[in-house]
Amino acid sequence: MSTRLWHDRATSIQIDGRAFINGERVHAVSGATFENTSPVNGRKLCHVARCDSEDVNLAVLAARTAFEDRRWAGKSPAERKRVMLKFAELMRANRDELALLETLDMGKPIKYSLSVDVPSAARCIQWYAEAIDKIYDEIAPTNDATLALITREPVGVVAAIVPWNYPMLMASWKIAPALAMGNSVILKPSEKSPLSALRMAEIALEAGIPAGVFNVLPGFGHEAGSALALHNDVDCIGFTGSTRIGKKIMEYAGQSNLKRVWTELGGKSPNIVCADCPNLDEAVEAAIGSIYFNQGESCNAPSRLFIEESIKDKFIEKALAMLPAYVPGDPLDPATVMGAIVDNIQLNSVMGFIESGKAEGATLLAGGNQVRAESGGYYIEPTIFSNVTNSMKIAREEIFGPVLSIFTFTDLNDAIQAANATAYGLQAGVWTSDIRKAHHAARALRVGTVHVNQYDGDDITVPFGGYKQSGNGRDKSLHALDKYTELKTTWINLA
Ligand code: NAD
Repeated sequence: MSTRLWHDRATSIQIDGRAFINGERVHAVSGATFENTSPVNGRKLCHVARCDSEDVNLAVLAARTAFEDRRWAGKSPAERKRVMLKFAELMRANRDELALLETLDMGKPIKYSLSVDVPSAARCIQWYAEAIDKIYDEIAPTNDATLALITREPVGVVAAIVPWNYPMLMASWKIAPALAMGNSVILKPSEKSPLSALRMAEIALEAGIPAGVFNVLPGFGHEAGSALALHNDVDCIGFTGSTRIGKKIMEYAGQSNLKRVWTELGGKSPNIVCADCPNLDEAVEAAIGSIYFNQGESCNAPSRLFIEESIKDKFIEKALAMLPAYVPGDPLDPATVMGAIVDNIQLNSVMGFIESGKAEGATLLAGGNQVRAESGGYYIEPTIFSNVTNSMKIAREEIFGPVLSIFTFTDLNDAIQAANATAYGLQAGVWTSDIRKAHHAARALRVGTVHVNQYDGDDITVPFGGYKQSGNGRDKSLHALDKYTELKTTWINLA
């Protein structure tokens, strides 16, 4: 579709910002709403229900009731699988609408909403659907006089609280395994990007997910989010977001019913390029492509680049040559690869980091400016700093924007040590032709995922999560099912 047609659709699309509780679109009990504007051009999209503790109570009651009467958990695995496969199919059938909502809501290029976000979310739902009837319970190796069964049961009511950077995908990583295991789910999308989640709930109902099993509460973190995390009848929170709020969620769990808390948090991922990397062009492309993908608003963005001193100049020359391809453009133009920053708050935060980098003595090699301000949206140039040291704010804190910091090294062990010198531990990259160096680095890096001679490897089949303050859980893969499952032991006396 052309840019003009996407703009036409953007103008005519009907957006419903009401919450979704017990199978119905509803206003917040208080009647309160908040305005949702698009970072693409600053235009108002709709009013969204501003849910608070009263709406949380209603959603938890609906979810608990659906769970207790076994509306979903009581269905055969084959039936749950059939319904979730239909859910995935309908996500694909609604691809254009979902992609448009995602782009208008948080500013990512339509090209990627269409080719990455919707298909990956649908694949995630499909993959967990297919797993449902392939999971067996166990019998423990006891003795002839007893039978000890180890069975999996759903946890109950699961609240999923997710961020705005991949709204649909982060929601899918939580709701798909939670629903697959028979739980009832309440999803709280970010206040910055609630639209695709609300539409997903309608699609799930259409697919046959019973009313009350999947609810969506738009609203602010300190209102709807904290009320969910403090609720005594929520059994589990799957949280993706910042480390700061992740700590709060754990406190809320401790202050209430000690609900299970799974966290997927921030990152400051290192990418180490040795002089013997097998292909310098590929290393440059991956470093640049991965930091600027999604405008740098990715938890696993390789924001700290460690280059071996002897190849630094060549690497930087090639990197700078790539930047024109990443000039921010209209997110509704199918050719655009770098879109808008999610909102003015995030734009100011990223610009603040850029100013701090300059003030603390890093060398600004490229970018550093807000652009396209005349559009009414929020855009920042791809930015590169060199001569960065670990004491600088841009080296230590997650920027969550299109800013790359370059360090150099002469000894791989020094690079590994510097790479680990962070509170985070989400992902890392290492580029070398020497398998021993690669293996040594992969072992020594304290992160949940290491990429060797690539950076963007990703699939639903592998766990995604971090060490240290990047969180305690793993999304994706069969391991994620454990987060939403209780293990029950049943002893039977056969004597
Ligand atoms: P955030 O922590 O500000 O918000 C995340 C969610 O928590 C939102 O829905 C928000 O409304 C809610 N929230 C905020 N305050 C709350 C409170 N007091 N109680 C309950 N809920 C509350 O994060 P963000 O700005 O939306 O997202 C960016 C962060 O997410 C980055 O740090 C990024 O690295 C991280 N992230 C991590 C992963 C991962 O898999 N590790 C994936 C994507 C994003």
